[in-house]
Amino acid sequence: MRTRFAPSPTGPLHLGHAFSALTAWELAHAAGGEFLLRIEDIDRSRARAEWEARIFDDLRWLGLDWPEPVMRQSARLPAYRAALERLWAEGLLFICGCTRRDIETALSAPQEGVSRHGPDGPVYPGTCRQAGRPRPGATLPADAVLRLDMARAVAAIGGTGLAFTETGAGPDGESGTIAIDPAALPREIGDVVLARRGMGSSYHLAVVIDDAEQDITDVVRGRDLFSATAIHVLLQRLLGLPTPRYHHHRLIRDEAGRRLAKRDDARAIAKYRAEGARPEDIRAMVGL
Ligand code: GLU
Repeated sequence: MRTRFAPSPTGPLHLGHAFSALTAWELAHAAGGEFLLRIEDIDRSRARAEWEARIFDDLRWLGLDWPEPVMRQSARLPAYRAALERLWAEGLLFICGCTRRDIETALSAPQEGVSRHGPDGPVYPGTCRQAGRPRPGATLPADAVLRLDMARAVAAIGGTGLAFTETGAGPDGESGTIAIDPAALPREIGDVVLARRGMGSSYHLAVVIDDAEQDITDVVRGRDLFSATAIHVLLQRLLGLPTPRYHHHRLIRDEAGRRLAKRDDARAIAKYRAEGARPEDIRAMVGL
């Protein structure tokens, strides 16, 4: 068994991260397996070396260890590019020039009917889908927003079913074999972004490629990402990558029941450390 913790170094490690990392570490160690750390720093505008150093320090203080060197997504851009080249050549991507505002405006037009929310927010209304399609033989643009044409992607897998094994639980207690209906993906998820400007990838593409590269057998992460797993399983199928098991865990909430956010400095491990907390106090706070 091989698990991983994949933080983005864009803020302090808080109780929710600690719970996720400890859960992944313990699952791997209980099975005589291995725990890896991966730094998800493709968003160069927000990732900071200082945050990364503090994350390492907090995780070591919590008693976790991992093999070095750790994988950094910022060093993986050629691998993401190769996957985009493949999907582009298969006619599954299109260039999108829409701003967030353009998408909201299109969705508020009366003929749109009810707009749906997918794992990435509102389902893309398809504005650029025709015009942004590559002409035959066109080269992949160096730096553009690229979306997956979801209807074409579903057609490309031949309409066959998708599934994954959940060893934790989804938001409604989903566990065991989770079947994904490909026909529902264009409507419920839509044309997801696979490459962002200035990043060379999106979270969805990078996470799938790197989990495969690191031979992760069990992806341990928060329940908020359960619905994104359908995107990940589809991408694995399109790119010929194995589908790991998934273990979605409960979310750590504040006293008001709100999910902890990255900027939630009030729950930062560093703050508890400064106040004299011990690692076992942190474990108790997150119910371990
Ligand atoms: N970098 C992502 C996050 O911090 C990782 C999500 C995942 O584990 O797939 O939310």
